[in-house]
Amino acid sequence: MSEVIVGIDLGTTQSAVAVVDSGFPILLADEDGRALLPSAVWYGAGGEIEVGHEALRRSGVDQVITSVKSLIGRRVEESGGRLLGKGILKTSAGEVTPEEVSAEILKRLKAVAEYRLETVVSKAVITVPAYFHDAQRAATKRAGELAGLEVVRIVSEPTAAALSYGLDRLDENAKVAVFDLGGGTFDVSILEMREGVFEVSATAGDTSLGGDDFDRAIAKYAAEKLEVDFEEMEELEKVRFVSEGRRLKHLLSEESGGVFRIPFTGEVPLSLEVFEKILQPFLDRMESSCRRAMLDAGVEVEDLGSVVMVGGSSRIPAVKERVEKVFAKEPDLSQHPDEAIARGAAIQAGILAGTVREVLLLDVTPLSLGIETMGGLMNTLISRNTTIPCKAGEMFTNAADGQKSMKVRVLQGERELAEDNWELGSFEVPFEPARRGQARVGVEFRIDADGILSVLARDVATNEDVIIEVGSAAVDVNEAKVEKMVSESVEYAFEDMNARVFEEARLKADELIPAVETALKQADGLLEEGEVQAIEGARTKVLEAIKGREVGLLKSAVEELDQATENLAALLVEKATQSLFSSSQD
Ligand code: ADP
Ligand code: MG
Repeated sequence: MSEVIVGIDLGTTQSAVAVVDSGFPILLADEDGRALLPSAVWYGAGGEIEVGHEALRRSGVDQVITSVKSLIGRRVEESGGRLLGKGILKTSAGEVTPEEVSAEILKRLKAVAEYRLETVVSKAVITVPAYFHDAQRAATKRAGELAGLEVVRIVSEPTAAALSYGLDRLDENAKVAVFDLGGGTFDVSILEMREGVFEVSATAGDTSLGGDDFDRAIAKYAAEKLEVDFEEMEELEKVRFVSEGRRLKHLLSEESGGVFRIPFTGEVPLSLEVFEKILQPFLDRMESSCRRAMLDAGVEVEDLGSVVMVGGSSRIPAVKERVEKVFAKEPDLSQHPDEAIARGAAIQAGILAGTVREVLLLDVTPLSLGIETMGGLMNTLISRNTTIPCKAGEMFTNAADGQKSMKVRVLQGERELAEDNWELGSFEVPFEPARRGQARVGVEFRIDADGILSVLARDVATNEDVIIEVGSAAVDVNEAKVEKMVSESVEYAFEDMNARVFEEARLKADELIPAVETALKQADGLLEEGEVQAIEGARTKVLEAIKGREVGLLKSAVEELDQATENLAALLVEKATQSLFSSSQD
């Protein structure tokens, strides 16, 4: 089995860790199911350290370090007064360096990955902005090492974004624009594909333009309407105004209006129209950076094959509209904008680990190889175009209690459903009978330099191996057959993807529903009747969509259920925290 290398987006406001699993880059979520970790660290006077959501909960009460990315690898003179002499930050616990703070965030992500993957994680690919200079890159690498991670590669964020959008499939010399509007920074890059690798040909932006500015602008607008002086407010009050601004901003990405509410202070309605007026000066600054990047790269809008948008603030409709206007092209927003970079980093990690095909290849497998898995899906172990020799493996488990063996069907092809691919062979792997989900069977594919595929299956409990030589995977198929398979995979891409999305959403629903049921029981009496009904309603929708095999409905119902339970999850955390405090006071 190849070793894991995770991909990490170490963001200014949020960070995330991802890994390629059976060919797909997936984000790894913490124990509470949250995949985005606020890049915030709190140091207590007694030496305690809190990271992420927990740290943020202290803001307004105590000093919390955020946006440390804007300080890492910077000289004191470049830090706008935030760094003291010798490049340190002061905390209640003493002095820390930006690297040490970043290392805390990385340690947390490492722990999340280890928790999800159930294995030690010691290697990572970390992304940095394209404009980061040497010292900033080196400092990021040191932060990784402090966190116990060997940083096998530093990748620029726009390259990671392009990878996650699958732009590596573009033609040689293709040019793309990557637009990234995050929480604290904005950057736009023009990339060119040369000899199979992306090159950043120009990058422009604004290191102090992002979602935080919009939160603040809303807060200031509301303060003015309430006739209070924002600048004169106490720190705690400011934090409250700004976070209410953020809540409203998120709402306005979906709705045409909302109300800014601060308990005991007042309410201010805000329409989408007014919000968009507030945004204008920021959008203008964004636009000029985009034009600057194109100018520097010497490209015109017609030269761009695609424009991809990443960064959480890309969810704002007015931002998308402006991008569309500037580039005279509908931008690609098909990926979750705040997850794309971590996914791209995972793909890069997969390339380095050998589990993902490389961008440009010489001796390669002509078609993907995999095995049939739950739901009749093709589970690719070695992707088409992977350089040989290579090997890749995965763990599987039993679907039924007391099962004594597992059938492994070895498949070749590009289709999402097992039955549409070619079967190269199949065999039974015996294992010790175990309860459902308890048996562990490792399956490994190896292709030697001559293109001979052998498949090894091992029962982890007994260490017994079954090895079969399947034959020549690379020579077996002629060019015409490969072409037909590939063109069919394109032709049926839509149906295939639907089938996979359905199966995946169904598996997610299978996990979510029991979790929600337990949570509802725990939160007895904490929720309003309406909210319980909304959750029940969403749950019924999920079950109905599964019954009716409706892909779109199922996806949206699962999302709805996810959203409907957001408050419930928060309440449970609060409840847990309260009982923690009350028990510590006894
Ligand atoms: P960074 O790369 O700077 O860490 P992200 O790409 O994760 O940041 O984006 C974070 C920003 O995205 C925050 O300002 C957050 O408020 C904003 N954001 C997230 N979701 C939405 C939304 N639905 N509407 C508007 N802004 C959003
Ligand atoms: Mg980012």
